Amino acid sequence: MADILDGKGLAQKIQAGLLEQVQTLGPKMGRPPGLAVLMVGDNPASLTYVRNKERACAKVGINSFGQHFPTMTSEAELKQVISDLNHNDNVDGILVQLPLPDHLDASVLLNHIDPDKDADGLHPLNMGRLLRGEQGLRSCTPAGVMRLLKEYNIETSGKQAVIIGRSSLVGKPLAMMLLAADATVTIAHSRTPDLGSITRTADILVAAAGRPGLVTVDMVKPGAAVIDVGTNRLSEEQGSRLVGDVDFDAVKAVARWITPVPGGVGPMTVTMLLHNTVWSYRQRL
Ligand code: NAD
Repeated sequence: MADILDGKGLAQKIQAGLLEQVQTLGPKMGRPPGLAVLMVGDNPASLTYVRNKERACAKVGINSFGQHFPTMTSEAELKQVISDLNHNDNVDGILVQLPLPDHLDASVLLNHIDPDKDADGLHPLNMGRLLRGEQGLRSCTPAGVMRLLKEYNIETSGKQAVIIGRSSLVGKPLAMMLLAADATVTIAHSRTPDLGSITRTADILVAAAGRPGLVTVDMVKPGAAVIDVGTNRLSEEQGSRLVGDVDFDAVKAVARWITPVPGGVGPMTVTMLLHNTVWSYRQRL
């Protein structure tokens, strides 16, 4: 039976450390760290995420500057808001909650954020730094996955890692991080034939497809570490539950480690956002 990787518990431990850092740095800086969360429109899932982020900020002493804009806000207006935040000395981190309404181009807005305030680590400069192994702000979900692996002493060096999903948010940056940790990395995606033949080679299997039930027990190598990034809300008829991409109950019988959904990667993502904000704050000392 697999050990459960307790993302919620680890997140609390890291947040306690961040609070301590903020309390120590506060008097030297003369202000708390600041995170600006920009939300456009009324996507209900995004509203929940933003609320969670603001609550998490409060717990570690980060001042959050939440700004909520109507759906039809123009790109020019949002770029101006971002420019102002880039120049605001009380703001260490800026994030634009995704997805955005259709008339807005996420890349244009993300590229407009000062790379040193890029709390989500999605700016091309930070992506490039990751690719080249340079110091910089890292994207939160993949960084959270790596932190979980580290906490539980899960060996990456020389191991086969398979990631299902090739998004810029999760799959691609995680592949770079696992590569930097000396794993041999394969990225599978929606056009990959015979997915199971690839996932069965994985010592570390990461599912980030957003497809409930995608990873069944026959696709998992016995003894593997299975990280479920997927976050899927089932329909009301199915109980409105939050589930990942992995058939958790069956897979936990063969895996050596597994993350639950909820309580695995999700809390780590928010915590890495706080970590990034405090990191940027410290850089300004
Ligand atoms: P995305 O839609 O941008 O990318 C999904 C990827 O999965 C694509 O590359 C696609 O090729 C691949 N894919 C889809 N169906 C597949 C299939 N049947 N077989 C193989 N590959 C398939 O999504 P994303 O933004 O990368 O997010 C992925 C999932 O992770 C979503 O459920 C999302 O909600 C979740 N997520 C969770 C967190 C967290 O903190 N827990 C953070 C970010 C994303």
